[in-house]
Amino acid sequence: MDVEVLVRALAERRRLAHRDRWSREQVRVYRQARLAELRRWAVTRSTFYERHHAGLVDAPLSELPPVTKPMLMDAFDDVLTTRDMTLAAIEERLRRLSDSSGDPGARWRRRWRTAATAGTTGVRAVLVWNEREWATVLASYARATVWAGTPTGLRPVRMAVVSSRNPTHQSAVVAASAHSPLIRSLRLDATAPLSETVSALNAFAPEVLVGYSSALRPLALAQIEGSLHIRPRAVMSASEVLSESAARVMTTAWTRAPFDVYAATETAGIASTCEHGRRHLYDDLVIVEPVDAAGAPVPMGTTGARLLVTVLFSRTVPLIRYELSDRVAIGSGDCPCGRPYRLLETLEGRAEDALSAAGRTHAGDLTGLLRNVVEQFPVDMWQLAETAPDEIRVLVVPHGGDALVVDEIRRRLEARPELHGHRVRVDEVATLPRTPLGKAPLRRSPPGR
Ligand SMILES: [Zn+2]
Repeated sequence: MDVEVLVRALAERRRLAHRDRWSREQVRVYRQARLAELRRWAVTRSTFYERHHAGLVDAPLSELPPVTKPMLMDAFDDVLTTRDMTLAAIEERLRRLSDSSGDPGARWRRRWRTAATAGTTGVRAVLVWNEREWATVLASYARATVWAGTPTGLRPVRMAVVSSRNPTHQSAVVAASAHSPLIRSLRLDATAPLSETVSALNAFAPEVLVGYSSALRPLALAQIEGSLHIRPRAVMSASEVLSESAARVMTTAWTRAPFDVYAATETAGIASTCEHGRRHLYDDLVIVEPVDAAGAPVPMGTTGARLLVTVLFSRTVPLIRYELSDRVAIGSGDCPCGRPYRLLETLEGRAEDALSAAGRTHAGDLTGLLRNVVEQFPVDMWQLAETAPDEIRVLVVPHGGDALVVDEIRRRLEARPELHGHRVRVDEVATLPRTPLGKAPLRRSPPGR
């Protein structure tokens, strides 16, 4: 355990909790001040931003050119504000972690922590944080668990995480460096057989259960059926879109609604659910700008084509208007919880579960319809796979391998008039293809796209 980072993270968690009680105006003033600091820092310390923001030092944020993932990775050594390392050195460190030699939670070269994104959409991003930034990353994830009602006393909380065990994934680095007298975590692999995960969870009896939505749904079905018997005080769905029907199954299983956590490796937490079931943006940590396909900001309540994020605490790798492929809408209005942060109304999937343009025209609008039919049944997972322009292929993993479920889904889909004119194929499969980080996106484009 790293005492220093723990002490820093606990202090940062207290500062974050304090801001939860601020007014909207206080948050706005704070954001402006942090943004000004970040922009000054970036143009004076990073040769990339010196060029990228040349002549725009006094321009409003909305006029600064975005930074894409390929741009970040191509110019990485120029983006860095420290001469202590290079992209090549970070890549080498991540390679060694993947070869399973190192402890992902340990500090690297005395003060750094690194992680990589999955790279499912082409380019993989790597990130590096100093101790101070890392304390904020930890505190931002802790905020989600605090909002979900996890006790913050001195008794250790038993937390089970069903996601990726890849040591270069940020969640592994977070878990390894936060494992402490305060949190006892059990990490389980989302790709492991369900029966193994069920036994491990029964033995561990978690008070908090965290996982990919596609990993939690089969566990909820196992709980309803009786093989899993845990009583978590909070269930948190992260990394994948949490559908209403999956949330309903989890609510039935554990008698309380799951909390949704929206985060990315580059930003840490971006938003999460409060006790009133509404998602609040972490406005004090990240500036979120949904934009349309041309890069223009969309009005409140409108879902953007992608998202620009400015990470207010980023200093080693400053991220200013960095592009994420998520499609989100910001809501207006207040929440009875009184937190000063804006609401995240819509959260749609990422690029890795987007179809091609051709696929979208014939199948994109049908996702909701398919979801309504398929998720009425006890299925562990399902996926809409794009095969040919005139064909819809639905892969279904029925709970307990029950083939009758698949027959019934096929029959119901054939009866839907909206699907007439489409060739709909429903196939039973034992498991779904997953991304390198074990995620199972709802929709999948053909390989190679
Ligand atoms: Zn709220």
